[in-house]
Amino acid sequence: MDKICIDELKIYAYHGVFEHEQINGQYFYVNAVLYVDTEKAGTTDCLEDSVDYGAVCHTIAEVMTKEKYKLIETAAQTAADAILRTYSLVKSVDIEVRKPDAPIDMEFGSVSVKIHRGWHDVLVAVGSNLGDSRSYIDNGIRALEENDRIKDLRRSELIVTKPYGYTDQSDFLNGAVRFRTTLSPHGLLDLLHDIENTAGRTREIHWGPRTLDLDIIFYDHEIIDDDDLIVPHTDMHNRSFVLIPAAELMPDYRHPVLGMTTAQLLRRLEENDQYNSSRS
Ligand code: ADP
Ligand code: MG
Repeated sequence: MDKICIDELKIYAYHGVFEHEQINGQYFYVNAVLYVDTEKAGTTDCLEDSVDYGAVCHTIAEVMTKEKYKLIETAAQTAADAILRTYSLVKSVDIEVRKPDAPIDMEFGSVSVKIHRGWHDVLVAVGSNLGDSRSYIDNGIRALEENDRIKDLRRSELIVTKPYGYTDQSDFLNGAVRFRTTLSPHGLLDLLHDIENTAGRTREIHWGPRTLDLDIIFYDHEIIDDDDLIVPHTDMHNRSFVLIPAAELMPDYRHPVLGMTTAQLLRRLEENDQYNSSRS
């Protein structure tokens, strides 16, 4: 990917843990690398086909001076998010915030934080089978839409399904949403848990009744398997209530482990179901 680079943008601001830093301020220097496809601009010679680096400098300066943060981590992340939200051609961005006059009682050159942030393509399954399921789902989706670090959200049709696993409970309403996010997989999982908790979700029975369940099905083509998170979601390929909305929103997406598209996985599941019901 092509890069547009901004070096050593000098900004007077008031970030720091110490009171005197928040009162007196100091100079910060920002380096930014914008990952942008510049080929079209290289052909047309039109600024509209690229990113205006002067405008980006002003966006960075605005973020750096509007608030006083304790941490340059926060300043860097807020700047990265503002750039990604404002300039749609920027796919991802590196931001380095340098603080050469940081209060350290030793001789040093500079301290800095360097981060990388970008847009990721995500599919999240939504489900509910307690109370007013449709409103729980609508409110949950609205909370996602209103989040600053999420954009371009599309929702599938909702379908009514019989309970899976623990079967002594009401029918489910299921669907999925696809969106872009600058959140990491675990950052997104934390947000989904917050939204579930707002819907009054308690975890008493595994696979039991729930006001709102939000599961990460896909996160780009990443494969994640740790204590808190498994992506692609385990068993999604055996659940028609996940595959139907997945095939509606991203039919050509290829499952990174199974190597089949969501449309193919759905067709395979339907064929297996037909085969099994014809034998019973
Ligand atoms: P389930 O969705 O399987 O019915 P819960 O919603 O109660 O169960 O989730 C239990 C835990 O599953 C969560 O706390 C989370 O850490 C973990 N988990 C693992 N992979 C995922 C995923 N892809 N999406 C959401 N949660 C996941
Ligand atoms: Mg869940």
